Amino acid sequence: MWDFIIVGGGILGFSTAMQLQQAYPDKRLLVIEKESGAAQHQTGHNSGVIHAGVYYTPGSLKARFCLEGNRATREFCDQHGVRYDICGKLLVATNALEKQRMEALWERTAANGLEREWLETEALKEREPNITGVAGIYVPSSGIVNYAEVTRAMAAEFTRLGGEIRFDHRVTGLEERTNEVVVTTQKGAFTGRYLVSCSGLMADRVIRMLGKDPGFTICPFRGEYYRLPERHNQIVNHLIYPIPDPAMPFLGVHLTRMIDGTVTVGPNAVLALKREGYRKQDMSLSDMGQMFTHPGILKVLGKHLKPGLFEMKNSLYKRGYLELVRKYCPSLTLDDLTPYPAGVRAQAVSKDGKLVDDFLFVNTKRTVNVGNAPSPAATSALPIGAHIVEHVKALLK
Ligand SMILES: Cc1cc2nc3c(=O)[nH]c(=O)nc-3n(C[C@H](O)[C@H](O)[C@H](O)COP(=O)(O)OP(=O)(O)OC[C@H]3O[C@@H](n4cnc5c(N)ncnc54)[C@H](O)[C@@H]3O)c2cc1C
Repeated sequence: MWDFIIVGGGILGFSTAMQLQQAYPDKRLLVIEKESGAAQHQTGHNSGVIHAGVYYTPGSLKARFCLEGNRATREFCDQHGVRYDICGKLLVATNALEKQRMEALWERTAANGLEREWLETEALKEREPNITGVAGIYVPSSGIVNYAEVTRAMAAEFTRLGGEIRFDHRVTGLEERTNEVVVTTQKGAFTGRYLVSCSGLMADRVIRMLGKDPGFTICPFRGEYYRLPERHNQIVNHLIYPIPDPAMPFLGVHLTRMIDGTVTVGPNAVLALKREGYRKQDMSLSDMGQMFTHPGILKVLGKHLKPGLFEMKNSLYKRGYLELVRKYCPSLTLDDLTPYPAGVRAQAVSKDGKLVDDFLFVNTKRTVNVGNAPSPAATSALPIGAHIVEHVKALLK
């Protein structure tokens, strides 16, 4: 019998497992992951940005955990020898409308307690000679890291403290009983007193295995990137972000310095026809069947038809994608966009057709389940894990 079983070996699973083992050094903990190693899905396919917390609604879990996570991630990396770089971020307005929207973001950054600097055209040019804009906000606390490396360091710390991991074990069934939870995998069953699920793109399915209606379904959005050729590794000094449309804050490709020294462009957000499908042609009939019969997802698609089609067009038409980044970095050409692996975001959609904005947890008597954990959940992984540990402590009382 295990004391705690954690499903999912992404950054949230291992952050939680490590902190639970720290809180309960004598308890027996097990992480179950269906892939052959850690961080094979969202955690290993993202922009690698340690977010500062610019966009999030003041008072939301996202705003709080992102700010705490920014500091906690750096501390963890310092302690465990993981490379990171606090290179700062520039939000760039390229016209009068964007400048107006930038003013709202300026207020929001204040409400979220961020240090920042307003840059007029000249100052912007001085900081970033290859970037064109009418004004910008400089946020010094944004940085970059490889989240797969962070996760592997968490997994190593977890096992050092006595925790165990079973890779290549897919959870196929769950049964919550009065005093235990039985976890069935294709390689046999495990019994635990409590269960935590951090299953990312499968979050709703794992909750359903408990016989519970999660109240949302996961809608997968592929984020496609390009990488700039090596000669452009110094093209920017910071992370460069456009000013988003407040109605669609997650849209808008950015120029991201990666921790390996390269620079990527992206990601866009295209409806994915397979939850863990990373190529444009990847499709799953069962995933599509579930998506296109869900009233909430159909509502979201209807409501956001125009931006959805625009994203799809630019996914198929590289020149359209290029124009998005040329708005603020006009020297780039089609040849500069070289292939780079995509990621798929797990976005919860409620039955009434809303994209769930904040982090969301679904709890039962013996389980804590992460329901919605899109960006900035990698940045926020340590506070999210700590939050789950608090939930578990409450369940144990
Ligand atoms: C394109 C993109 C860009 C992003 N950029 C950033 C960024 O710059 N900064 C940031 O903070 N965040 C970013 N994010 C968000 C961040 O990557 C995710 O929020 C975070 O990685 C979520 O971690 P997770 O552990 O919940 O999910 P995952 O990493 O997806 O892990 C879930 C794990 O559960 C396992 N699993 C699922 N079902 C089962 C089962 N039945 N049995 C066993 N195992 C199972 C999966 O195999 C997987 O390993 C980005 C995300 C994407 C997709």
